[in-house]
Amino acid sequence: MDLTKLTIKQANEGLKKKEFTSVDLTKAYLEKIKKSDLNAFLSVTEKLALARAEEADKKIIEGNFGMLCGIPCAIKDAIMVKDQKCTAASKILENYVAVYDATVIEKLEEAGAVILGKTNLDEFAMGGSGENSAFGATKNPHDKTRVAGGSSSGSGACVAANEACYALGSDTGGSIRMPASNCGVVGLKPTYGAVSRYGLIPYGSSLDQVGPIAKTVEDVKIIFEAISGKDRMDATSVDYKFEESKVGLKGLKIGVPKEYFIKGLDKEVEKIVKDAIKKAEDQGAEIKEISLPNAEFALACYYIIAPSEASANLARFDGIRYGLSENGKDLLDVYLKSKGHGFGAEVKRRIIIGTYVLSSGYYDAYYKKAQEVRQLIKQDFAKAFEKVDLIFCPVSPVPAIKIGEKTDDPLANYLMDVYTISVNLAGLPALSMPAGKVGKLPVGLQIIGNHFQESKILSVAELLESRLIEKN
Ligand code: GLN
Repeated sequence: MDLTKLTIKQANEGLKKKEFTSVDLTKAYLEKIKKSDLNAFLSVTEKLALARAEEADKKIIEGNFGMLCGIPCAIKDAIMVKDQKCTAASKILENYVAVYDATVIEKLEEAGAVILGKTNLDEFAMGGSGENSAFGATKNPHDKTRVAGGSSSGSGACVAANEACYALGSDTGGSIRMPASNCGVVGLKPTYGAVSRYGLIPYGSSLDQVGPIAKTVEDVKIIFEAISGKDRMDATSVDYKFEESKVGLKGLKIGVPKEYFIKGLDKEVEKIVKDAIKKAEDQGAEIKEISLPNAEFALACYYIIAPSEASANLARFDGIRYGLSENGKDLLDVYLKSKGHGFGAEVKRRIIIGTYVLSSGYYDAYYKKAQEVRQLIKQDFAKAFEKVDLIFCPVSPVPAIKIGEKTDDPLANYLMDVYTISVNLAGLPALSMPAGKVGKLPVGLQIIGNHFQESKILSVAELLESRLIEKN
């Protein structure tokens, strides 16, 4: 039996029945990682993982263990694991060692999780393809000439390639859903505030959320339950207890935004998403066309707000307080050299855009305007959710692109986020699940819910899962 193919649920059952140990599981994944050429991991903590697995095995013998105990996972390298390197895939943090655990890590460790290592990403989570990593692009396990999708590229790829049972990612404008879609796994971007951001290296603080990537909807649910909830270290976290609910497809109202099925959407992707919607209809769901009239402004709005917040958040990397520090003839020279050598091109581009739109004279024209548009986008969703329970739409307009295909064209890359970013602007939860394939490339279906409606999204996704996947 190949232990690395098991889901969390199956691995937990095997551990319960003593068919194998957590050490067996951990060794199987470590072997896979060693043989891999996907570049999904930036660091692997073999000894620590095996020590944790031994601890988990003791708990299992005592019979005192939960669903995640002894199950090996991987963590996006923007989430801090104490005493481990946390690079954000940037040269500026290449040798930075985290001094504390993120709250999500504390929670996973309490649950007995075994962390295998840290996964690759677009530098500071800025990107949608995984190619902006200072340490090389992650390859797509379904076609190694293609991207895994970003920014949580390593987290998506390692789960799809059985190099970890599940992974954590973060999503500011699609970074969990995009790699989940490209790699053919399930990813959940939780409601803003549902999961603590404490210990996540910030990109756009009003947009960022940590969330799970796993092989099945059920696994995603298990992880979400473990990591969500109020945290006194994150004032934006909300006292919210995930409770499973069984929502049937019969009579469920599913909204399909007419503005999303437009030029630029690949025909085969469109067909896969429409077939998925049809399957929900066959099961008794009522399909309604809805309108999100401000959808066309979402990209412009996001690419003002996200870089603004990024420029403020990244000001801390000044060559003095964290990471890379270059010598200079005076303080300005230290700043210029450390940031100049430490940050990659895309990060610099975002900092420049952010500082520009926040500068006096432009603030009202760009930043303030974008905040107003953000409210309109939020209202569009609020109105839609008066009429429908969930929204179904694509995750990405195209399947995974070739590595290098769009690297010289930042705007073409930004356009790929057209279906994912509104969700973050509105703070909503959304899931990407495999819906079909174009050739060997997986394509995801996106299910968006109203705030804190994760249970509705997850239970509907679970009902559809086997019906969509039989096509693959
Ligand atoms: N692709 C988007 C960006 O570049 C979203 C990234 C993310 O969700 N971290 O900003």
